[in-house]
Amino acid sequence: MSLELSNDRAFIEVVPPLTQREAAEEALRCYFCYDAPCIQACPTGIDIPGFIHHIVTGDLKGSARTILDANILGATCARICPTEALCEGSCVRVEDSRPVTIGRLQRAAMDHAMASGTPELPPLPERGSGCVAVIGAGPAGLGAASQLCRMGYRVDVYDKRDAGGGLDTYGIVSYREPLTVSLFEVEVIKQLGVNFHFGQTIATSADLQHLRNTHDAVVVAVGLGKVPRLAIPGEDLEGVYDALDLVEETKTRPLMDIRMGRLAVVVGAGNTAVDAATCARRLGAEEVTILYRRDEAALPAYRYEYEFAKQDGVSYRWWTLPTAIIGDGRVQGVQVVRTALKGGDRSSRTAELTVIEGSEFTIPADTVIRAIGQEKEATIWELMGAQMKNGVVVVEPRTYETSVPGVYGIGDCLARPGESTVVQAVEDGKRAALAIHRRLMCQQAR
Ligand SMILES: Cc1cc2nc3c(=O)[nH]c(=O)nc-3n(C[C@H](O)[C@H](O)[C@H](O)COP(=O)(O)OP(=O)(O)OC[C@H]3O[C@@H](n4cnc5c(N)ncnc54)[C@H](O)[C@@H]3O)c2cc1C
Repeated sequence: MSLELSNDRAFIEVVPPLTQREAAEEALRCYFCYDAPCIQACPTGIDIPGFIHHIVTGDLKGSARTILDANILGATCARICPTEALCEGSCVRVEDSRPVTIGRLQRAAMDHAMASGTPELPPLPERGSGCVAVIGAGPAGLGAASQLCRMGYRVDVYDKRDAGGGLDTYGIVSYREPLTVSLFEVEVIKQLGVNFHFGQTIATSADLQHLRNTHDAVVVAVGLGKVPRLAIPGEDLEGVYDALDLVEETKTRPLMDIRMGRLAVVVGAGNTAVDAATCARRLGAEEVTILYRRDEAALPAYRYEYEFAKQDGVSYRWWTLPTAIIGDGRVQGVQVVRTALKGGDRSSRTAELTVIEGSEFTIPADTVIRAIGQEKEATIWELMGAQMKNGVVVVEPRTYETSVPGVYGIGDCLARPGESTVVQAVEDGKRAALAIHRRLMCQQAR
């Protein structure tokens, strides 16, 4: 499905860029700590004081180079990283006023690179020769591919989609990250020399065996699957959406062609639910309600996502569990029950819940959006015969190698709770690349 760039006002990037002057002033607030905690807090270890110092001296190109050297998806991460939990959360300026807005400064440098040309990235000190196949052109695959390419390897990336970027391109709402940003990043990686093969699904044992026969190592970075079904009656009624399909539609179809109802109910309360709910609002739904079986204290979405949803006019119904979607061909409402804690910590997402007897009621709705996470992707590992645990591939934690020699698993497909972020996926890719390099060096030395 081809991509659709929208210039609809509701889908234009929400956070404005810093002006040159604002960026310079904000950069001067950095203490340039010797032992910078922000670097420790960044999974990819970007030299944050270093790139900020370049901004202070007006060298935005140098700033972008410093960022890209550590994180090839620096433009995406500048926009969607949970900075309050990472770099900005550890900024020492929190104690005397507010943290330096590292994300927005990173965006200033990366916007400059997007507008005026990407700085050349130096080859990495680790040098090798050989070829590696990467399955999946999402953040994890791109992280591995760019790093291996900079080490001197030939890299072939295969993706079932027509464009790269994975969820950055197809799953992140464009008012948080415009499509042009993730497409620019794929282009930068193409310019490094990575070979992309789009529209190619690696789906059979023969496909996998072929890649193993023709490459020195195979990296699997296929992400997760669709949103799971709610397993309640009425899910096949017209007007029930998968949150990821809805977001994808806003990026692949003209917005005016998407039919959105007036009263939307979103089931789930994580970041995907916020994206789906705000999308529904921006597509014209008058009332959008997120149902969550716990309360605010246990909310899985980041705080800024929650605030964003409220600003967009999304309302929340706590202690509410859907039991059926009702309607006659089309959705007419959601039947729910009230829940309560059986005991335990109110803020815990695992504390046991109980359903309150006789508390059933119906919420009128013409649209229901399922947003309760993503399914695990097991097929590819089963075809390879890789060791699995609870439906997830087992990898060696330092190298990411699976039980199949020379085959590595990285990114969201490892289904690690709390670690499904773009920045973590890129870091997985970098680490797996280094492990592959070391393995191949050892093999060649024998
Ligand atoms: C709605 C939503 C909002 C999010 N918001 C944020 C956010 O604000 N900040 C943040 O840091 N993270 C966010 N994330 C998480 C982030 O997008 C992921 O952690 C990240 O994309 C994981 O990268 P990945 O490469 O592992 O997987 P993906 O991005 O899913 O990429 C996997 C790629 O593999 C390809 N593929 C799959 N199977 C095959 C096959 N058999 N053959 C060939 N190709 C295949 C797919 O087409 C895809 O391109 C969000 C996720 C969602 C769903």
